[in-house]
Amino acid sequence: MTSLAQGTKLKNPAVENRTVPFFRPDVGEEEIRAVVDTIRSGWLTIGPRTEEFEKQFASFVGADHAVAVSSCTAALHLGLDALALQPGDEVITSTLTFTATAETIVHAGGRPVLTDCTPDTLNIDPEDVVRKITPRTRAIVPVHYAGHPAQMTELLEIARAHKLPVVEDAAHSLPAKYHGRMVGTLGDMTAFSFYATKNLCTGEGGMLTTANSELVDRLRTRRLHGMSRDAWRRYSSEGAWRYDVSYPGFKYNMTDIAAAMGLVQLRRLPELHRKRQEIAALYDSALSGIRGLSVPVTRPGVEHAWHLYVVRLDPDQFTIHRDRLIEELKNRGIGSQVHFIPLHLHSFYRNAFGYRPDDFLVASLASETILSLPFFTLMSDIEVGYVADTLGRILDANRR
Ligand SMILES: *Cc1c(COP(=O)(O)O)cnc(C)c1O
Repeated sequence: MTSLAQGTKLKNPAVENRTVPFFRPDVGEEEIRAVVDTIRSGWLTIGPRTEEFEKQFASFVGADHAVAVSSCTAALHLGLDALALQPGDEVITSTLTFTATAETIVHAGGRPVLTDCTPDTLNIDPEDVVRKITPRTRAIVPVHYAGHPAQMTELLEIARAHKLPVVEDAAHSLPAKYHGRMVGTLGDMTAFSFYATKNLCTGEGGMLTTANSELVDRLRTRRLHGMSRDAWRRYSSEGAWRYDVSYPGFKYNMTDIAAAMGLVQLRRLPELHRKRQEIAALYDSALSGIRGLSVPVTRPGVEHAWHLYVVRLDPDQFTIHRDRLIEELKNRGIGSQVHFIPLHLHSFYRNAFGYRPDDFLVASLASETILSLPFFTLMSDIEVGYVADTLGRILDANRR
């Protein structure tokens, strides 16, 4: 690896100032124009642009239906709510995820049953899923960690054998493919995130895809207070003001302002994804020579969405702990993150469900050794080089 930190004439202002943030949003004039046009149109909340975004999103991932909502958290809650969980019902998910995955299980009336992850991709471990199934299990919620699809062949087989629906947390995995099929077409429902830092961003937003035509009516109705618009269409001659509330639903609709931005971002998504692949490849080649540092693994048959670039430290090789490495990087102007502190280590999940670190050996070790490097489409090659070079130097200075 060439040393970019010393002597090289750097043209990139971010690196001349020696700062590479963890993330910068890639939103330009086109998105701004689309949002302004929407505001000028006078139709701000859910309307024609949301409908168009749903149509184009469904077509992009190849899903039969897409329901636009205010966040991925809303999408997960809406999907889990449709399962009509009863007290004591259990839903299996990975411990290495964001709390939204499991909090929505709690909000839908279920008990989150956490599993460990596989050591290579840090995705939900199908063998542990089998071990955690009980007569009370009602669903499986895989998370496609960092953008790498979980083992859906195994998970769908387990689900079929036990007649369990699969609701995927695909907050990281747009666009991703699993053995030729897009994420969004694999399980019963798939929840996507358009949060500011996600691969497609509308500021806040989400989408729930499904192939189930019966289910989708329920999802659309419950997304907006459980008001059935069809009631007046079918039974009323008085006009469009009459509606019926058929369920205590949610205020989870997307706005047309967000959808306008989403339509532009969706058009740009293939280009944004290519950029992510390029940055991942640059990191791979710059970092794979560093002894004791593992770069992300991509399994055969998988097209990675590359939401995060997560490296791992071998604690036996370095005297520096991951936490201090984050500080050292920060001192050199580099932002990094940890995805995630596993759920079983948080006070709520510990206290409410009695989880212990020993119950999740892979995730507990990972939580001490994983590091998410700066990773965003506007990153320059020089910035990638600066991060890789700085990381390599710090690690070399702290070898056992
Ligand atoms: C970001 C994220 C969510 C939540 O997405 P929002 O759109 O912010 O609600 C859920 N799960 C995972 C794994 C995430 O990273």
